[in-house]
Amino acid sequence: MIRVEKLNKSFGDLHVLYDIDLKVNESDVVVLIGASGSGKSTLLRCLNFLEFKDDGKIVIEGEQVEAATHDLNKVRAKVGMVFQHFNLFPHKTVLGNVIEAPIQVKGMSKKEAVKEGKRLLDKVGLGDKYDIYPSRLSGGQKQRVAIARALAMQPDIMLFDEPTSALDPELVGEVLETMKELGEEGMTMVVVTHEMGFAREVGDWVVYMNEGRIVEEGQPDHIFDHPKEERTKAFLNSIL
Ligand code: ATP
Ligand code: MG
Repeated sequence: MIRVEKLNKSFGDLHVLYDIDLKVNESDVVVLIGASGSGKSTLLRCLNFLEFKDDGKIVIEGEQVEAATHDLNKVRAKVGMVFQHFNLFPHKTVLGNVIEAPIQVKGMSKKEAVKEGKRLLDKVGLGDKYDIYPSRLSGGQKQRVAIARALAMQPDIMLFDEPTSALDPELVGEVLETMKELGEEGMTMVVVTHEMGFAREVGDWVVYMNEGRIVEEGQPDHIFDHPKEERTKAFLNSIL
């Protein structure tokens, strides 16, 4: 579970997040939507402490986390993240990519990491690709390796930042399907995406951001069929 209260974030003079309040319940899939530059990535990065908030509260699994007093590697292990560009290690095999962090960061034995890594690769449909190098994979396969790699840290929560927007259209579905299965298994997820079909079908809660503020949030049906705010309507009209 994640709870954010009155979170603010600036880059120099540019104030990009204003008093963000957000609650992500256990096993919920929360979809963040909004125009380019509205602060979606910055919010995710603050949740994972890749960026540091200026003020406000971030509570993860019941514990208020502060960069100054917490071991951020441990926090990041609890909160997995998948990016638009998968950033796999090119010189490591698919399995090598997946077992790296559990061994290096979590101190897992190689034997255990390999067993778990293979299980996760099977789960994302890459059971026959353990030993090949990322350059031989399609974009959709690479992204599924990136998902398995994040899961290998046994996170409580997964953050996805436009995981399909760099993919060729025919490869989007397989990645969304993997994410859908993860959500159905009860993973707590925050997903930034322009895939409104996914938001509607898999999302439990949709949050619309504009210019650094949460303008409107609700169940997918509410946001897509009966948005209250003019800005939400205009945004949806621009993308649907
Ligand atoms: P997109 O849909 O294009 O990914 P976004 O909603 O994810 O957009 P952010 O990337 O969070 O938006 O950016 C919000 C604002 O913060 C933008 O004005 C952006 O230029 C600015 N910004 C983001 N990262 C930095 C940074 N490291 N330094 C300075 N400004 C930044
Ligand atoms: Mg972004």
